[in-house]
Amino acid sequence: MMEELEKQKREVLAHLEAIGRLKSPEIKRAMLKVRRELFVLPEYKEEAWVDAPLPIVGKATISAPHMYVIMLEAVKLKPGERVLEVGSGSGYGAALIKEIVKRGKVITIEIVPEVCEFARKNLKRAGYKTVKVICGDGSQGFPKEAPYDSIIVTASCPEIPKPLIEQLKVGGRLVAPVGGISGGQDLIYLEKTKEGIKTENLGPVIFLELKGKYGWRT
Ligand code: SAH
Repeated sequence: MMEELEKQKREVLAHLEAIGRLKSPEIKRAMLKVRRELFVLPEYKEEAWVDAPLPIVGKATISAPHMYVIMLEAVKLKPGERVLEVGSGSGYGAALIKEIVKRGKVITIEIVPEVCEFARKNLKRAGYKTVKVICGDGSQGFPKEAPYDSIIVTASCPEIPKPLIEQLKVGGRLVAPVGGISGGQDLIYLEKTKEGIKTENLGPVIFLELKGKYGWRT
């Protein structure tokens, strides 16, 4: 079974390279290294490397491998950087970020306590003991550890939450799905420069909704 997963992983990554999505050697290294099967429910282990989202606990999902590749290529993380992930889910995204920033600091925040515990447990078991998992409302960011070089939002926002922009350093990069709850969103890239805020639309995506103060009131 391990060999089968390894083969599927290489196929998914080769495809993402062939279509020009996966470009950076550091991101490829991280995708090869993190054992995605440790971040899915036991009953989905064999499907861990199908390039699709999978249900985890609560109503949450672990995003598809290609989605992490797209978000990580966009924010261009460097070793030593300080990164906030909003929406820990399985913890898989945080593990990938940690592999890229290495000695840098990774903070991931999750609003659903059960999901927060799931992420914490998975990260620990996979050996990512220094990733900080916070249980709370990430739509307000996490000011205590700010400012960040990068913020990755993995739940769909009505608009990019103001506190997240405030908590970015100058030169900081953010990605977030912005748009409605049903029917998908646009993945928005935002960069905070000395001259101001620069944004770019990276195309259509589908994420679960962001809850909390700056999220959707449901
Ligand atoms: N990055 C995850 C996938 C996240 S799915 C992974 O690697 O597996 C989106 C997650 O965002 C869900 O777990 C959901 O509970 C969480 N979420 C929604 N609103 C949030 C908020 N305001 N703060 C933190 N997490 C939130």
